[in-house]
Amino acid sequence: MAFELQIATRRIASVDPATGDILREFECAEEKDVIAAVAWARAAQPEWAEIGVRRRVELVRGFQRKLQERKSDIARLIAREAGKPMAEALTTEVLVVLDGARFLVENAYRLLRAEPIPHGNLAAKLKKGRLVREPYGVVGIISPWNYPFSIPATEALAALVAGNAVVLKPSEFTPLVALELQSLMRAAGIPAEVFQVLIGDGATGASLVHSAIDKLIFTGSVSTGKRIAMAAAERLLPVVLELGGKDPMLVLDDADLDVASSAAVWGAFVNAGQTCLSVERCYVHCSLYEPFLKACVEKTKTLRVGNGLDPETEVGPLIHERQLEIVESHVQDATARGARLLIGGGRLPELGKNFYQPTVLADLTHAMRIMREETFGPVLPVMPFDGEDEAIKLANDSEFGLAASVWTRDASRGERLARRIRAGTVMVNDLISCFAISEAPHGGVKASGVGRTHGRCGLNEMVRLKYVDTDLMPAMKKVWWYGYGARFTRQMEGFIDSQFARGWGERLAGALRAAGVVCNKRI
Ligand code: NAD
Repeated sequence: MAFELQIATRRIASVDPATGDILREFECAEEKDVIAAVAWARAAQPEWAEIGVRRRVELVRGFQRKLQERKSDIARLIAREAGKPMAEALTTEVLVVLDGARFLVENAYRLLRAEPIPHGNLAAKLKKGRLVREPYGVVGIISPWNYPFSIPATEALAALVAGNAVVLKPSEFTPLVALELQSLMRAAGIPAEVFQVLIGDGATGASLVHSAIDKLIFTGSVSTGKRIAMAAAERLLPVVLELGGKDPMLVLDDADLDVASSAAVWGAFVNAGQTCLSVERCYVHCSLYEPFLKACVEKTKTLRVGNGLDPETEVGPLIHERQLEIVESHVQDATARGARLLIGGGRLPELGKNFYQPTVLADLTHAMRIMREETFGPVLPVMPFDGEDEAIKLANDSEFGLAASVWTRDASRGERLARRIRAGTVMVNDLISCFAISEAPHGGVKASGVGRTHGRCGLNEMVRLKYVDTDLMPAMKKVWWYGYGARFTRQMEGFIDSQFARGWGERLAGALRAAGVVCNKRI
């Protein structure tokens, strides 16, 4: 009897986190599919690079138009598959991508063209240097579920405009949004082989990391990021890692209490707290601590939790039960160790199995998990501090360093403190919106990642820098070539003095000694 080896295909399902309805099931792309997609992208990329930045910018503008026309449908799909309120799907996803495209339309040509590199060294004055930006080739993008549209779209548009082909592996929890992004790209005229989406799970992502891509832009958790960094190191694959955060918010004694408490509530609960830039730790000056807590609790009470498709909803469900269990365990650990639960702290089963109450906790310590690990849920933990130095110490006491915010009526005080916080971004009197400032670089330090996306820095990540240097005197041998000897040594000492000696007299004497060095070549 012959035995046939049956290899089951891996499957994933797109599930509405509010209702639990299965929206669609997919077979995961296998390693062979990944290899084929990357080969297809590689074959098409040279022609894509050849059409030039101006033509690619026109296609980005076309994409922007299609997105503007289809904004409501796309927002509805994002709200459905990721569970976020419609308002957030429009503002933090669709609008961010429209503006990201605007940035590229306005700036890509200028930022990608060759840049002259003037030479200051006298010995190199007869040369012309230029910095040329060339596409990597095929850029792989692996993205998470929490911003299933704005993250992969902004990264892909930057990679594409720079002349790369893109293979995107979106999160297994939000494949439909990624397919919608793919159809927008196609509708805009971007060739199918130049932007491809591979639906699948972590194993599909691992296959992409091991495939023949030339660069990887990864956004996701620290643990996956570390695994990817190790795999990438084996073949020196350049990577950008946009990882988790534990962002601190510092409310100074001169802050506007009403504004800062509204910011804390929005910053902690937007996208049900599932934002890499969420307020995960809030430190408030002791003079404002109790009134600040009271204001946060009052404001939290008014929040409308529900299905994101209902336009009145302000806080949606968590993405899945596993995420909810993490949030629950952090809150339980904190309260067991003495934290004060001011509001929330439990599930909302009457709404569905992924809903959790917006929660405010007080009297925390850094021994609690909720102040050390990424919670990624609708919890606002608030802790008092007594002076600027203590606030900075608390803010920096974290393995993460994505972003932070400082709240004060004194902008220069805010900026002074901002410089002392170890993070990729610090906002004074605002939070999270830095992600929507298309000119601003996005990325972290410490465990929050490596490299940047967005803006000029993000565009630079999509190109190889090549320095091209042309000597303007092709008939002249270089003075530093062979022909060494006592005379050459004297001339070189003279040349060095002519350039770097302190006094003008010494410089002049050096220049005289250096004379003739040009005619001194033996071979
Ligand atoms: P995750 O790490 O579980 O998954 C991210 C992506 O990696 C998914 O597409 C997944 O399929 C893929 N993946 C999983 N294992 C892989 C492997 N071994 N090789 C290759 N790919 C693999 O993260 P998540 O739960 O989807 O996202 C939430 C995390 O992302 C949070 O930590 C959040 O802070 C972080 N995040 C960071 C940023 C940022 O800009 N810094 C933005 C959004 C989210």
